[in-house]
Amino acid sequence: MELSCDILVVGGGIAGIAAALKAAREGADTILIEKNNFAGGIAIHAMHRYICGLYPSDLQAPINTLNGGIAEEICLELEKLAPGSKAIQMGKVYVYPFATKDLLKVLKNLSDKQAGLKIFYETKIDSITTEQGSIKTAFAKQLKGELIISPRAVIDCSGEGAVIRFSGAAHELLPENERQLAGFCFKIKGITNPPDILSVSVPYYLFHAVVEKKLPLYMRYTKFYPGDIDDEGICLINLPFGNNPEKTREAKKQAVKAHKILADSLVSFKDSYINEMSSVIVEREGLRMTGQYMLTKEDVLSARKFHDGAIKNAWPIELWNQDKGPTYQYIEAGDYYEIPLRCLKSINIKNLYGAGRCISVSHEALGSTRVMGTCISLGEQAGLAAVKGL
Ligand SMILES: Cc1cc2nc3c(=O)[nH]c(=O)nc-3n(C[C@H](O)[C@H](O)[C@H](O)COP(=O)(O)OP(=O)(O)OC[C@H]3O[C@@H](n4cnc5c(N)ncnc54)[C@H](O)[C@@H]3O)c2cc1C
Repeated sequence: MELSCDILVVGGGIAGIAAALKAAREGADTILIEKNNFAGGIAIHAMHRYICGLYPSDLQAPINTLNGGIAEEICLELEKLAPGSKAIQMGKVYVYPFATKDLLKVLKNLSDKQAGLKIFYETKIDSITTEQGSIKTAFAKQLKGELIISPRAVIDCSGEGAVIRFSGAAHELLPENERQLAGFCFKIKGITNPPDILSVSVPYYLFHAVVEKKLPLYMRYTKFYPGDIDDEGICLINLPFGNNPEKTREAKKQAVKAHKILADSLVSFKDSYINEMSSVIVEREGLRMTGQYMLTKEDVLSARKFHDGAIKNAWPIELWNQDKGPTYQYIEAGDYYEIPLRCLKSINIKNLYGAGRCISVSHEALGSTRVMGTCISLGEQAGLAAVKGL
């Protein structure tokens, strides 16, 4: 099938949905391509419970989100499905809680009913042609057949930078052992009378199993969150390798071992069982586009503002280091920094924009920009910029 459009958005994660909604709402004929059969990307694969990056870095309960727009709209839609939900404090920051099934529903409802937006699920971009420094054609594989798309502009929201790679756009990619830890989740069901301290006692028992060499070293960074319903909990394993089938099998094996240790150690886990696992390992860090500006750690921590500041953010630099686990560096309370629009524009491909995880930021700055709330606003601003040709 041959198609043409104003804006092609690649990737239907949280950034891609926002980019496609905004482009279509601005009147552009928009196509969204997603390789999975659902929207939401990592947020769904890794069973997220909280939207981070929505609020200023204040210790008082926030009234508004920093960027408003589609991020605010998604929170309001989530609240309709879980009345009474509001931002909750987690250490020095506030996050918005949600249930995975509600996020799936909200993203589907918003995108399905959006005029001017055509979505192709189970479709994967696998090559791009360029002409005179611009993307000319995108080729996408479907279960049966192929799409050949001629777009005016493309927004890469694939997380892994598929369009950036295929189009020869300039980018950076650290060797695997220098990137942030990746993640893999498993859901435990049948937890009885869960005490409040499970988010402390689960990592404690797993840490001891690591010391006793019953589990590999990386399992010492495992986190535990309560699930959507009372008898559920989610374990997030943080592991030093990217996604491939062999490593996913290894992560699944460790999940089963970890659950057995928990069932033997904690009374409330005695009759529990694993009822769901991530289907893939999800990466915090991958390829980053080289844009017309690269946001740095200094920009983030000095709460720098820019003449073309397009997105506000106050999430700390949260780096999941391979050797020392998570570290946090905070922006001064009450302040925020800006992400310039130039970080969303490729330096060498004229009609290519990026949003979400693969924008033009340093390894450290990515520790702050990669969270869901920020990715939604990045998508929205990339959608607007692509339509207006900014
Ligand atoms: C372990 C872990 C825990 C995290 N916890 C939190 C948290 O609690 N709260 C929070 O706010 N953030 C959290 N984050 C960060 C956040 O989830 C992600 O950075 C964010 O969701 C990224 O969104 P995205 O849209 O940029 O990318 P993704 O979610 O990766 O979406 C990209 C989409 O593109 C699709 N795609 C890829 N290649 C192609 C292709 N060639 N063709 C078509 N489609 C393609 C993928 O299938 C995917 O749906 C966490 C991240 C990780 C890894």
